Order: sequence, then structure tokens, then C-alpha cells
Amino acid sequence: MSATERLYYHDSHLLEFDARVIDVTKRDDGAIAVILDRTAFYPTGGGQPNDTGTLGQARVVDCIDAEIEGVLHVIQGPIPESGEMLHGRVDSLRRLDHIQQHTGQHILSAAFIKLFAAPTRSFRMMEHDCEIDIELDNPTNEKIEQAVDLANQTIWANLPVKIREVSPEEAASLPLRKESARQGELRLIEITDFDLTPCGGTHANATGEVGVIAVRSWARAKGLTRIQFMAGLRVVNDYRKANRTAGQAANLFSAGRDDTPALIARLIEENKKLTRGVRELEAIACRVEADELIRSSHVTGKVRIINRIFSDRDADSLKHLAQALIAHPSVVALLGSRDGETARLVFARSTDLPGDMNLLMREACAAIDGRGGGKPEMAQGGGAAGRNLAGAIEKAAADFRVQTGL
Ligand SMILES: [Zn+2]
Repeated sequence: MSATERLYYHDSHLLEFDARVIDVTKRDDGAIAVILDRTAFYPTGGGQPNDTGTLGQARVVDCIDAEIEGVLHVIQGPIPESGEMLHGRVDSLRRLDHIQQHTGQHILSAAFIKLFAAPTRSFRMMEHDCEIDIELDNPTNEKIEQAVDLANQTIWANLPVKIREVSPEEAASLPLRKESARQGELRLIEITDFDLTPCGGTHANATGEVGVIAVRSWARAKGLTRIQFMAGLRVVNDYRKANRTAGQAANLFSAGRDDTPALIARLIEENKKLTRGVRELEAIACRVEADELIRSSHVTGKVRIINRIFSDRDADSLKHLAQALIAHPSVVALLGSRDGETARLVFARSTDLPGDMNLLMREACAAIDGRGGGKPEMAQGGGAAGRNLAGAIEKAAADFRVQTGL
């Protein structure tokens, strides 16, 4: 027998009660826990989080089921004494929310059984939504929405939700939705002609109290189907949020909310075309820029070395310019870009020339505190010592002449 009489077992809607303090203990983490002879506070268990509220002048921040010891009320505030009588008050909105989510889960799980013989393997009630893991073969949006429809019809039929206490023998003869691991008397939650299952949580008096159920998303997880759902007030809050988000997106297009997905799809398509166009223009611009650089440089020996440092030019753009330069014969392009201390490098040579750009790049990168490499005809790199960039490129030009004798 537990030291605490659990008032919530018999009345999920009882929010205020008086009780005597049996014990006050300090937990390992320093928190103060009060044990009462009776309580309406639900302790965390069965996938349902604990209630919060007040106990005398103190705030109840957590409730833990310590089985035989009783229910531990973790409090903040004035510490009561053993034997004292206290007035307890459960936070009503949080309790109502838990009632809606928990009863909603019974109804949704039963709907999956009725329609697809798909049992629920686990349930979690989280801060924003709830999750069930079910054994559903070939899950589809249609199947899941069918179960949601049946669940909502059951809610709106406002069927009574009853609590039945039965012996283990009697339980064995009943068509329970799931088995219980508990010993002794079993507490069953019955929704007339719809669901019968053992459970210790807080439930609605009638299904209508749940309001509505909605599924947000689902995915396959570890051989099961994981469904994110919510019930009651959470659905209303989530609808407000979703509607606001959709409305903001629609305003950007000065369009109706439901027309937005098509407009976004069109915008993405246009953007792809524009990006392709910009790339083509960039290639043309690089060819023009390369021709300009070739014209304004001169051949020394048998080679035209073009070394340039740009400010804040991205790696792709540097590479495209290098490619345009080495399309000309006998060109070595030693290009750099500096953005503060960030340096980028591209070295390339025309195919009619000898020389190893990879080797030159490795040495240049060592000088700018970076890394890089590539092939004999083209190499790329970058580093964090932009101040050494000019020196590294000068040295690469000199080393190229030594390397090739040109
Ligand atoms: Zn339950």
C-alpha cells in the first residue's frame, strides 16, 4: 500500500484538497519533498508529466511517484512540518491540457486498432506535442487521417469515459487494448463501445472534453510508425501559429493564404533560371576580364605570368577567371583574393606549358597558414594569414621560372 491516497485515481477533475503532511525530506539534489496522506497531484508516469500547483504557501514544481513511500511533492518556498494540515491546489490549465492529451491518446490509439489492428507500443506527452509509436503496416497519410477522423467523430459523440477497478482474474477475461504489468487490482479506463485499457493517468469524464485531435507529422522509426499529434487547446494554439506563419508568407506575395505554395514553387523555379543566367553571364565576364588581363600583360621569355590579388572574390569566381586565362596559350595565372586575413588562391597554367601548380600551391599555402592542392595544371588553396598573400604569389612566380627554366 502506498502511504499516499491518490485522489486523482477517482476524480481527475478534483483540483483542490486538504491533506496532512506525513513526512518532509531533503533529496540528493537538495530539493525539499513533502509526502501527504492524500493528494490530487499527479506524479510523472505512464508517459504523462506531473502536475504543478501550490501546497500551502509553497509552489509544487515536481511530483514523483515513489510507489510505497507515496507521492513526493517537490516544493519551493516555505517548508511545512510533519503533522501540519495543508491546502493543495493543482494548476487547472496544465491539468486540463494533460487530460486532453492523455484521453486523446486513448481515443487515437483505439482508432488505429479499430481501423488497422495497429497497436500502440509507446506514448510520450511532451511540452508542445505528443508522440505515439504504433505498429502500422504500410503507413500513408490517408490511413493516418482516417484514424484521426474516427478519433474526432468519437470525441464529438461525447461518449462517457468511465473508471473501473477490477481483479486480475476479471481483467484476464476482458478484451483489454493492452496488457498491464501491474500486480493486484487493475484500474481500467473505459470509453463505452470504443476502448478498454488499463491506465493510471488523468482522463476526461466524457470524450467531448478532448475537443479535437490533429496529427502534425509522422515518420517511420525503428520498425514502427511514430506519430506526432496534439489534442484540445494545443490544437487551437498550433492552428493560430500555423495560420499566422502561412499568413505572413501570403502577405509577402500579396496573395491568399492557400495560393502561397504555388507562388513559392514558381519563385524557386524562376530563381533557378536566374541563377543559370547569372552563371552564363559570369563566364562571359570572366572571358572579357581575361582578355583584358592578357592585353595589359607582357610575355617574359616564353611565358606570360599573370599574378593578381583581388579583394573578397570567391573561390569559384577566381577559378573561372583562371580557366578563362589559361584558355590562351603560354599563360600562368597566379590569382589570389583577400578578405581581411582570409586568403584564397588559384594557380593554373596553359596546357602547352610545363610546371607543377600543385607543388607551387603547397608552398604558397604554407606561407599563408593554410592548405591546398590540386593537379599539375591547376590547384586551389586558402589560408588565414592574408598579410602574406602578396609575398606568397611573388615567390610562386619566381619558383615557376626556376622549376621550368622558362
Ligand atoms: Zn490513460
